[in-house]
Amino acid sequence: MAGRRTFFFEGIGVSEGIAIAPAYVIETDRTIAESYEIAAEDIEEEVERFETAVRQAKCEVRAIGQEVAEKVDRQQAAIFDAHLLMLEDPYLIETTIKRMRKERRNAESVLWKVTTDLGNRMQAIGDQYFTERNHDLYDVSRRVIRHLRLSGSGEQAEAPSRHSCIVVANNLGPAETAQFSRDQVLGFCTNEGGPTGHAAIVAKAIGIPAVLGLEFVTNYVRTGDLLIVDGFEGKVILHPSAEQLRFYEKKADQAALYRQALEELRDVPAVTLDGTRINLFANIELPEEMPAVLHNGAEGIGLVRTEFLYLNRPGLPTHEEQTASYRRFIEGMDGRPVVMRTLDIGGDKLPAFAEKTTGANPFMGTRAIRLCLNNPDIFRTQLRAMLTAAAGSQINILIPMISGLDEMRESRRIVDEIAEAMREEGQPLPESIRIGAMVEIPSAALLAGPLCKEVDFLSIGTNDLVQYTLAVDRTNREVAPLYRESHPAVLELIRLTVIAGREHGIPVSVCGEMSSDPRFALLLIGMGVRTLSMAPSAIGIIKRVVRSVSIEEAEEMAREVLSKTSPSDVERVMKRRLKMVLDKLRQLHASTDGIAQIADESLASPS
Ligand code: PEP
Ligand code: MG
Repeated sequence: MAGRRTFFFEGIGVSEGIAIAPAYVIETDRTIAESYEIAAEDIEEEVERFETAVRQAKCEVRAIGQEVAEKVDRQQAAIFDAHLLMLEDPYLIETTIKRMRKERRNAESVLWKVTTDLGNRMQAIGDQYFTERNHDLYDVSRRVIRHLRLSGSGEQAEAPSRHSCIVVANNLGPAETAQFSRDQVLGFCTNEGGPTGHAAIVAKAIGIPAVLGLEFVTNYVRTGDLLIVDGFEGKVILHPSAEQLRFYEKKADQAALYRQALEELRDVPAVTLDGTRINLFANIELPEEMPAVLHNGAEGIGLVRTEFLYLNRPGLPTHEEQTASYRRFIEGMDGRPVVMRTLDIGGDKLPAFAEKTTGANPFMGTRAIRLCLNNPDIFRTQLRAMLTAAAGSQINILIPMISGLDEMRESRRIVDEIAEAMREEGQPLPESIRIGAMVEIPSAALLAGPLCKEVDFLSIGTNDLVQYTLAVDRTNREVAPLYRESHPAVLELIRLTVIAGREHGIPVSVCGEMSSDPRFALLLIGMGVRTLSMAPSAIGIIKRVVRSVSIEEAEEMAREVLSKTSPSDVERVMKRRLKMVLDKLRQLHASTDGIAQIADESLASPS
């Protein structure tokens, strides 16, 4: 890349690791339609290219509509009828052709201009009907532009390869992220996104280095440009120099050694220096993570996010499909505990079937248990599949987004009813059924005492607890600096929950991203938490920390942290305390274990 100017970008490193590869830019509204001039004698050919793309888009929409009508239902397919009408809309199509002839610009750019003009006018009306039509309009135009690109006008680059690339996009949803294959996508970076959005969690889960919240990276990067993604530091380098490449190649090698050092701990137990056992469980986003769960030595699965079954498809998963999938987790863990969370749709996870039902601002809207109680058929199918999958063993069912006792009572009533019906039908049942609540809304933490009487266990979801306590959207880059797990109000809610659990003899675990940060893991242990559930890749690091500390030291840290009143003070204390632990660890290993030292140095600057 000699001669090309190097650009540096800083964002939020959400998944550790180094990736060096050519970029693959996913079209976004900002990059979608590059504009170029068309010679007067070629303009009719360009119009022809546009008309062909529209015809192809229509064929495609018709085919998808038919498939959805057959496989799902007519109602869902109606949306494609609306798209077909738009592809025949005189304003959209004829205005585009007229303007192409007048301005002599390429079809993509003119269509996009016409779309945004029309879209802005619809948006200005502010009516829900027009807002929905606006989405359809953009969908339709993007589809035509995709066909234009595939048709290749000679001015266009070939359809870029997605092999061994770094994906660059304005924003990515968890569904798109989940589709990435680790062999093809070596890293990714986006303009938008926050530290605990589900795209970030999925990236960490599948072990792809990722930096989000880069603001305008898509304005600079073009498909094929060489990129470095440093997921440790949240940095991205475009057109790196030879020296930078050497530096990052070395860093990538060190990261591999670091992972190897942690893997050596796989079969040793997570016990503190004074012999207290800490359960280190894994969170699972996708079935493909099962090998990583076992490979990293997880002692159980503390959270199966079952949404993967519902994303990337127009319809709903059947009872059989769900049962088979849940069984794989339970059998894979061979008797070790598995916590299955019921559907948590809404927020940044919206499958096709729920798009119309979640309403505006789905993070605060019809999400998770709210959606399940409003759609009892969906909820019952899932619960029955969980009970069927766990026949003969124990099932731990975790209900997300509990805001009060009634939702919990209603959930338990439905589970009991299904179990009773299965018993009457002579179906095999689990040996025991445990039902827990996620504590991720402040009201649940404040009511943790009474809630304990309704549940068998509690699991604190700090990702949401932070967003709902501090009123900071977890996926919004602009407010990302306000998203502070170290906020004393968040810590106080965790403290209340842990105390309530202790008083009522109800186990309390933590399954938010906080568990995988060594500083917070220490703090949580000091606050009395004995089960931490995290991304499988984090288990090794946390185990090293657990094995280097005594409960007394962790409790001392917790006492000091909980006396602080600002996030910065909390973070200072945690950093100092973690450093003390690491210094001790380094002395222990300095003479014998070089690799461990590399690992511990990396630990010194936790994200
Ligand atoms: C959480 O909110 O902390 C959690 C574990 O659930 P999710 O990230 O899936 O919302
Ligand atoms: Mg949550």
